[in-house]
Amino acid sequence: AKKYIVQKQFDGLPKSTDLTIVEEELPPVTDGEFLAEAVYLSVDPYMRAMSDSVPIGETFLGTQVAEITQSKNSDYPVGKHTVAPFGWRTHTLSTGGPFPIGLPKAWIIPDPEGLPLSFYLGVLGMTGNTAYFGFLEICKPKPGETVVVSGAAGAVGSIVGQIAKIKGCKVIGIAGSEEKGKWLVNDLNFDNFINYKDPKFKEKLEELTPKGVDCYFDNVGGQISSEVLHRMNKHGRISVCGSISTYNDKEVKGGYAEMGGFGVTLLVLAGVVQSDIVSKQLKMEGFMVYQWWDRWMEGIEQNKKWIKEGKLKCSETVTKGFENTLKAFVDMLQGGNTGKAIVQI
Ligand code: NDP
Repeated sequence: AKKYIVQKQFDGLPKSTDLTIVEEELPPVTDGEFLAEAVYLSVDPYMRAMSDSVPIGETFLGTQVAEITQSKNSDYPVGKHTVAPFGWRTHTLSTGGPFPIGLPKAWIIPDPEGLPLSFYLGVLGMTGNTAYFGFLEICKPKPGETVVVSGAAGAVGSIVGQIAKIKGCKVIGIAGSEEKGKWLVNDLNFDNFINYKDPKFKEKLEELTPKGVDCYFDNVGGQISSEVLHRMNKHGRISVCGSISTYNDKEVKGGYAEMGGFGVTLLVLAGVVQSDIVSKQLKMEGFMVYQWWDRWMEGIEQNKKWIKEGKLKCSETVTKGFENTLKAFVDMLQGGNTGKAIVQI
């Protein structure tokens, strides 16, 4: 068995020397336990955001799809696949949970009905439910409304945009390359996209949202999001899902802009959004997807139905080999993925 342990806490973008792969010998399975062999590992932005919670020498965190190969626990029968936060390891002895930091128990994948098992780390797992509940429950979109999604070509964002289209909305995606933008419009039916690296980002946003923005699903935070908030309509809804633009920063930066007039110079924090929130009576709500744990299968079943109806497409960026997990993680943090970033063991 192999696992990644923390050698050094990340400082900025993770480096190859921050985690080390070590071999371990697992003891025999005892009553109440089962042995699971990783089939797919997930690499997700939250692992960077929460990396400081893993002490040096401990296994790095993460969720995987694993096959149960031995079992002395009737809830986890041999031959079934489980989705569980076992961390970055090839083999795990477990009782199925509970796990630290409030993560739910290991759950058994229902009949995959011909869909790939890797989907249970993406569209049919945490990612899909983040999109389903985080968008529908917080933004409460209505047909005809304008929806903006940041991180739109990523795992969560690409699903949010498609759900918004299913709900009859106009959808503008924000992503980091022209290629990703073309994929959103041509393959996923987004109405349009903006490359946030374009120096004319603000002008493009204004041009593409002539009626303002009713719902904003925010994966990235920072300046991009401040610009979107300035475009919100009265009673707009903002679902704050993540802030990946700052996960590798030691301190969250705030820029000051100089505003002059009437003989005085004011220093204004660039990106201040509170006045928009007040004057437009906006609703802005953060969430943790596991708050909907009691409705978990509802999201999965609905997303599965939309996939089968051809209404929801899912793309994966698959890296092969346990040894390449850290590389896959760093690539994802730098935008190397389109759709869900997955490691195939
Ligand atoms: P993605 O598949 O979207 O991968 C991350 C993407 O972030 C990259 O592909 C890259 O795309 C983009 N990115 C990287 N750096 C920046 C930057 N500086 N500014 C803007 N975009 C950047 O990841 P997920 O879909 O898994 O996660 C998306 C967000 O959802 C994250 O913030 C994550 O933390 C959050 N999340 C929150 C949950 C919750 O319960 N609240 C649950 C799950 C996820 P590009 O090429 O466009 O730059």
